[in-house]
Amino acid sequence: MVYPGGVTALAGAALDIVAGELVAIVGPSGSGKSTLLNIIGTLDRPTSGTVRISGQDVARLGDRHLSALRAREIGFVFQQFHLTDGLSATDNVATGLLYAGVPRRHRRERARQALARVGLAHRADHRPQHLSGGERQRVAIARALVNRPSLVLADEPTGALDTATGQAVLGLLRRLNEEGTTIVLITHDRDIAASLPRQIEIRDGRLVRDGSPAAGR
Ligand code: ADP
Repeated sequence: MVYPGGVTALAGAALDIVAGELVAIVGPSGSGKSTLLNIIGTLDRPTSGTVRISGQDVARLGDRHLSALRAREIGFVFQQFHLTDGLSATDNVATGLLYAGVPRRHRRERARQALARVGLAHRADHRPQHLSGGERQRVAIARALVNRPSLVLADEPTGALDTATGQAVLGLLRRLNEEGTTIVLITHDRDIAASLPRQIEIRDGRLVRDGSPAAGR
């Protein structure tokens, strides 16, 4: 991936992620982690190379089909939550269904179910500013899950949380993975990465290690 201006942020990255995996992407700041995640998530198109989601080459899809595939198959979670202040937790989660063709009358019900799944049924009517950091991230995870995607991509989901809260959010992601969702997450936290079944390490835009935490030590 070469950005305008000439920065090569990712080169020669060959990677297969199998349905049901829980994968950590690790590496120093600026090494290309977000670029990799954005390419996997079809938010960025690579300068060269191929991205396949469920076997389908995404470069062959027009924008409309690509948006539909993204809405159906992929949920995104961000370090800073990206919730809308003026909306209740339920309505924030329901925005995850806007592009999925779900009729309005069903959106709130589905949002409430997703909030229950992350243990926040009792906060459904709260606005983000009345929630703790960990609760906000759980709302954001519910939004990522509301359309029942097969893949969740999380960019530093615990980065803005204290250690204990981060561990709780990680526990939630683990449970979702056990229930069948494929999860790829970026983390700076060595302990978190070491606790996950597969780690992919990036340096200067290259994948330098790919394996279980015990391998290669
Ligand atoms: P990380 O997530 O590991 O911190 P990034 O993928 O964000 O790394 O960035 C990798 C490299 O690409 C960095 O050198 C960064 O400055 C550069 N980069 C990232 N996004 C852009 C962009 N939109 N335009 C130009 N350069 C970018």
